[in-house]
Amino acid sequence: MNQQEHETHNAQPATRKIAILGAGESGVGAAYLAKQQGYDVFVSDFGAIADHYKKQLEDWNISFEEKQHTEELILNAVEVIKSPGIPDKAPIIKKLKEQGIPVISEIEFAGRYCTAKIIGITGSNGKTTTSSLTYHILKDAGLNVGLAGNIGKSFAYQAATEKFDLYVLELSSFMLDDMFKFKVDIAVLLNITPDHLDRYDYKLENYAASKFRVTQNQTAADYFIYCADDPETIKGMADRKFEAQLLPFSIEKKIEPGAYLENDNIVINTNQEHFTMSIKELALQGKHNIYNSMASGIVARVLELRNETMRESMGNFKAIEHRLEFVANISGIRFINDSKATNVNSTWYALESMSSDVILILGGVDKGNDYGMLKDLVKHKVKSIVCLGKDNKRIHDAFEDDVDVIVNTFSAQEAAQVAYHLATKGDTVLLSPACASFDLFKNYEDRGNQFKAAVREL
Ligand code: ADP
Repeated sequence: MNQQEHETHNAQPATRKIAILGAGESGVGAAYLAKQQGYDVFVSDFGAIADHYKKQLEDWNISFEEKQHTEELILNAVEVIKSPGIPDKAPIIKKLKEQGIPVISEIEFAGRYCTAKIIGITGSNGKTTTSSLTYHILKDAGLNVGLAGNIGKSFAYQAATEKFDLYVLELSSFMLDDMFKFKVDIAVLLNITPDHLDRYDYKLENYAASKFRVTQNQTAADYFIYCADDPETIKGMADRKFEAQLLPFSIEKKIEPGAYLENDNIVINTNQEHFTMSIKELALQGKHNIYNSMASGIVARVLELRNETMRESMGNFKAIEHRLEFVANISGIRFINDSKATNVNSTWYALESMSSDVILILGGVDKGNDYGMLKDLVKHKVKSIVCLGKDNKRIHDAFEDDVDVIVNTFSAQEAAQVAYHLATKGDTVLLSPACASFDLFKNYEDRGNQFKAAVREL
């Protein structure tokens, strides 16, 4: 990331070969940057490559293959850039590691060619929301800022084509796993709750270690922003040393420097500066969004933005699609699309933020959910549950004593219609499934879009 490293890498002889595994947004972006930097580039995807990515690779004259990995063309690379979706246990990755060929992420690679200041945001839930909100605040304040990582155009492509002074990067644990020298100047860790454990030997501490990599290489000039109310974060911090300046945020207690809640006001104290804003004025409502807004607010304070500008941006930010997104009010019944809630923790926060009775649409591919943590909220707020999944047995078992009605449905249209019938004026129909969507839908966006279309047809 520093200038010296930047130049060293730019000086690679043109014949050095880079192989890129996976031709999605990050792989194709990395291919573009590598080609621009004079590498001999080969892209290999074990699955089919989407047409628009194929066309880009062809337009840029980059050789590629799909539906296979030709080992001779990969194992002769000096370095391999791996897409975050490919697990370490994939045979080709095992072979590369056996042969000592470095495997890195697209972020690590792009970082070598980017001198911008980096804000890196990770966590189990809230990454996209907090990254988008932070980007919105910084952009509104007139900074020359880009948004990348797990969101929008890849970091590598932007590093090749843009000249931003700062980047907000949404970083998943899979990206962090293959990051080594990359330094995040302002790191945000939102929370750590069990997710993707199949990629971490089913050990929460391994997954947590991956999240903490967001702080690796940080120095005393950098910042680490984290949630002091999150037990796994606090547990993980006890065993680690941090060079960066610590800026925690909490709803439960007063912390300085950092952010806390006082009489329904967010208070942020950094750089001797004092920022306050009523939570009622926040564009994003719900307890989880108080955390997200605090994290974004601390970043803005660290960058010394004006309080007035911050307050304005935090108040006028538009909710992102599929995250507690208001769809419609039909005969006094509110419909909300939270299709992105693919684990129990996100559904907990969605329910927590509801102030009326709820008809909850739940279900899909259950990744080993512990529904126990939803029970209290379901008992108090949920009138009926509409299951939307192929196999709903675990939901019935979990909640049969807590709600009067549990109905199975098998399409977004059926779910919306049944929920509408079960609701009365003043209720909220909430799609917050706590499960992945692959049994009945292409992905969570497809599920959310089908739900919204169905609601609009009621
Ligand atoms: P990610 O990008 O980490 O998957 P998103 O911002 O897309 O997170 O939000 C995913 C879901 O998680 C949303 O539906 C929301 O209800 C919930 N959520 C958002 N922020 C938080 C948070 N700080 N803590 C817990 N749940 C959250």
